Amino acid sequence: MSVVMLPPRDRARLEGVHRDLVRVVERARQVVPFIVTEGLRTRARQAELVALGASRTMNSRHLTGHAVDLAYWLDDGDGAVEQGEVRWDWPLYEQIGAAMKRAAKELTVPIVWGGDWASFRDGPHFELDRTAYP
Ligand SMILES: [Zn+2]
Repeated sequence: MSVVMLPPRDRARLEGVHRDLVRVVERARQVVPFIVTEGLRTRARQAELVALGASRTMNSRHLTGHAVDLAYWLDDGDGAVEQGEVRWDWPLYEQIGAAMKRAAKELTVPIVWGGDWASFRDGPHFELDRTAYP
């Protein structure tokens, strides 16, 4: 199996994100196609998201580089990242969730998936466990 390298755009979006979380993302990307939509977030951007109702907390793990958002990427088949589309269908996020959890387990990096939250399920969101990574 060839190794899938994250494209430059995704690399740029992972700048400032904790190295262990980046390793989990890189490993999961080998089995499920996704793009990185957001990593480190400024307080101004977080406040904006809270105001929009897209986030409920100013205590977000994105502010400290402990969280990433991923989106399923349906490739058109030629492997070029420019061609394809983001998909928001829930079952696809179950796939990303499973791949991220497996990768995290293999690397012994405890993570939390927003898709497992009882209220305000957040399928694209993954963060390092607060106990292991305060
Ligand atoms: Zn998030």
